Amino acid sequence: MIYADTRELADESTGHGQCPNCEEEMVHSTSALQFARQGIAFNLAGVPAEVCPECGEAYIDPRLARPLWDCAMSAFQEIISLKARASATL
Ligand SMILES: [Zn+2]
Repeated sequence: MIYADTRELADESTGHGQCPNCEEEMVHSTSALQFARQGIAFNLAGVPAEVCPECGEAYIDPRLARPLWDCAMSAFQEIISLKARASATL
């Protein structure tokens, strides 16, 4: 469901343009997002992005990046409270 939505967003931004680093034409591909907080880390791979074939610079549409960030933040809160509960009962 989310994947279908993000695909649509990514397709809209096709032809994002040139790499801000090396001015190479960016291509439609996928990238990874890393989230880390309080010793917990997520690595989310396969995120639709415009990627520079030359230097690897990646651009993820903020309309996609923001809800992914929100998801990660609520997951962090969930995990942190689970950890707190686990250490209280163990
Ligand atoms: Zn580049």
